[in-house]
Amino acid sequence: MGRVAVVTGGTRGIGRAISEGLKNAGRRVVASYAGNVDAARQFTEETGIPAYRFDVSSYAECEAAVAKITAEVGPIEILINNAGITRDATLHRMTYQMWEEVIHTNLTSCFNMARLTIDSMREKGFGRIVNIGSINGQAGQYGQVNYAAAKSGIHGFTKALAQEGAAKNITVNAIAPGYVDTDMVRAVPPAVLEKIIAKIPVGRLGRADDIARGVQFLTADDADFITGSTLSINGGQHMY
Ligand code: NDP
Repeated sequence: MGRVAVVTGGTRGIGRAISEGLKNAGRRVVASYAGNVDAARQFTEETGIPAYRFDVSSYAECEAAVAKITAEVGPIEILINNAGITRDATLHRMTYQMWEEVIHTNLTSCFNMARLTIDSMREKGFGRIVNIGSINGQAGQYGQVNYAAAKSGIHGFTKALAQEGAAKNITVNAIAPGYVDTDMVRAVPPAVLEKIIAKIPVGRLGRADDIARGVQFLTADDADFITGSTLSINGGQHMY
């Protein structure tokens, strides 16, 4: 049987492409989502991949979900921390709530899910963790101090945990996508998006599959010498 893979935020956008890519690679995939039940139902109907609803920013909800997934599918061997949100504003307009939601959903979620799966990975002597960061965590972005801080934090988290996991064949890597054509980017005003695309040397937005391909590469059973790295997939927009 294939290894058990969990993709947080795996029902839509980049996460959906990651879920489908891992399934095609023979993994037993479980996707998570926050509250968009219709999208999750449609996802499961179309892909056959089960979707579990829980809030990744809540340690208690993650704990219950990991226990349920372990009982129903098996211990998690591949963890993709993909769920993320934006709450954009310049700092002088940003509320504490906007800060807190973004930090907890994008960054604390990585702690929650990794903390709750690391013991079984250590026992098994196998683990693959991929954290989805962002070009804006590498370069910063106007109007996104919360998001840039969270994503930048993911890159530090990745390097620290990679050192801890290495001896147990647990690799921990990050992917830093550039602008990818999903609901998150469709929320950007068209005039701003046009300016962004003009700065991408490849001349287009990324596709969710571009990111999914990177996840498959980093989670392969024989990818055990790649750890602590950040793979930038951004059409050449930022060379880090
Ligand atoms: P989408 O907004 O298209 O999808 C987000 C997914 O995350 C949904 O499945 C959503 O569930 C889930 N989610 C959101 N909040 C929570 C939560 N609290 N608990 C559980 N699940 C949650 O996002 P993208 O596909 O665009 O982005 C995916 C990742 O890639 C994010 O981390 C994002 O920051 C990162 N990224 C995206 C870029 C882009 O250009 N799109 C660029 C760089 C990084 P539901 O459907 O229930 O709402």
